[in-house]
Amino acid sequence: MAVYAIVIHGGAGTIRPSSMTPEIEKVYKQGLQEALQAGYSLLEKGGSSLEAVKAAVMSLEDCVLFNAGRGSVFAKDGSQEMDASIMDGTTLMAGAVAAVRNIRNPVELAYTVMMKSQHVMLNGKGAYDFALAQGIKTEPAEYFHTPHRYKQWVRMQGSEETALDHSVPPEEGPSSAEITEGKKFGTVGAVAVDQLGNIAAATSTGGMTNKQWGRVGDSPIIGAGTYANNKTCAISCTGHGEPFIRAVTAYDVSCLMEYRGLSLQEAMHLVVHDKLLKIDGEGGMIGVDAKGNTAMLFNSEGMYRAMRNSNGQEEIAIYQ
Ligand code: ASP
Repeated sequence: MAVYAIVIHGGAGTIRPSSMTPEIEKVYKQGLQEALQAGYSLLEKGGSSLEAVKAAVMSLEDCVLFNAGRGSVFAKDGSQEMDASIMDGTTLMAGAVAAVRNIRNPVELAYTVMMKSQHVMLNGKGAYDFALAQGIKTEPAEYFHTPHRYKQWVRMQGSEETALDHSVPPEEGPSSAEITEGKKFGTVGAVAVDQLGNIAAATSTGGMTNKQWGRVGDSPIIGAGTYANNKTCAISCTGHGEPFIRAVTAYDVSCLMEYRGLSLQEAMHLVVHDKLLKIDGEGGMIGVDAKGNTAMLFNSEGMYRAMRNSNGQEEIAIYQ
C-alpha cells in the first residue's frame, strides 16, 4: 500500500514566541491536532484525499482559533468576506468561492460548486444564492464577528494599509483570555494523498485585515493559492495574497516538478525562498506528492502547521 499522508496549515506571518504564552500555544496546537485527525481518520479508513482535505479545512473553519469562516478579518467597510477553494488532483476538477458573506463553511460551498455546478468559481451574491439553493449552512453576521478582529480593523480603519492576520503587533494580538474564550486567528489549508495515491488540496480564508471589500486574494484562485495534480503535487498557500497571485505560486511548484524534474521539496524551496522573496511575497505553503512526500515551507517568522503519515511520522509546529 502506498504511503498516505495529510498536511495542514493555519496561516503564516509574524508569529513570535514573545507574543505567545504556553497556554495560547497549547490551544493552537490542539486546534491543529483536531483538524489533522479529522482528515487523517478518513484516509486511514480508505477515504479519498478530496474528502480528507475538506474535512480538515472544515474543522479549522469551525475551530474557534482560526481565521476562516467564523472570526474572519474585517474589510475596509467593516464587512467580513471569505474566499475558499478545493481541487482534486485525479480529475483536475476544482471549485472556488470568492468574497462570500454569511457562509458557515466556505470550503464546503467551494466543494459544492465543483460537484454540483458547471462552473469553477462563484462570487458574492451569486455564490450566496447558489449556497441557499444547495442547502449550504449560512449564519447571521454576528456569528463571524469577534472582538479581536474588530480591534485589528479599528486600528487600521481609514488607512490604505492592509495586514496579514498574524502580522499585527504583539500588543494587538489575541490575549490569552480571548484565545481561551474562543476567538480565532489564521488562514487555513490542507493537502493530502490517499491510499490509492490520489492527491487533493483545499484553502479557506477571511483574507487580509482592512482589505477593500470585493478584494479577492490568492486562496480561491486555482494555480495561485491552491493547486492539485496527481502527476506533480497538491499545494495550499498562505501569505500576502497579491504577490502569490502574480507569481501563480501553487502552479509554479507543479510546473517546476513537471518541466524541470525537481522534487516537491526542491520546487517548494525555490518558490518560497527565492521567487516569492524577490517580489515581497511573505508567507508559505504546504505540499504533498502522489508518493507520500510532504513539505511545509515558509519565509515568514512562523506558520501554524501539522502533518501526519502512514509511516508513523507526525509533527505539529509554529516557528522556524
Ligand atoms: N493569502 C491570504 C490572502 O491574501 C491571507 C493569508 O494567507 O493569511 O487573502
